[in-house]
Amino acid sequence: MIANRRVFMMTVAATGAGAVLLQPAHAQATLDVKDPQAVALGYVVDTAKADAKKYPKHSADQTCSNCALYQGKAGDAAAPCTLFAGKLVPGKAWCSAWVKKA
Ligand code: SF4
Repeated sequence: MIANRRVFMMTVAATGAGAVLLQPAHAQATLDVKDPQAVALGYVVDTAKADAKKYPKHSADQTCSNCALYQGKAGDAAAPCTLFAGKLVPGKAWCSAWVKKA
């Protein structure tokens, strides 16, 4: 009885650990607009909402998806950005560190 219980508990533990290890990359959290670095860079989840007065060089065609620091493909809904380690940014987002993708 006790041995069966021990096996059961080990199975649960192993399965739980496996679930964590098998989490897909897209389970990463999306960057919070209140993140201090995001605030400092004028980050917005929609490029159309960028502060035009504060960032006069911004234009509506600048988005994360066409930024050199974006780690995803053009059509991806969201992807990591090298500036914000461990976080995802939406393809249509923007920040003042935007650099045209070559
Ligand atoms: S650096 Fe580029 S990809 Fe990263 S948040 Fe700013 S605009 Fe988006």
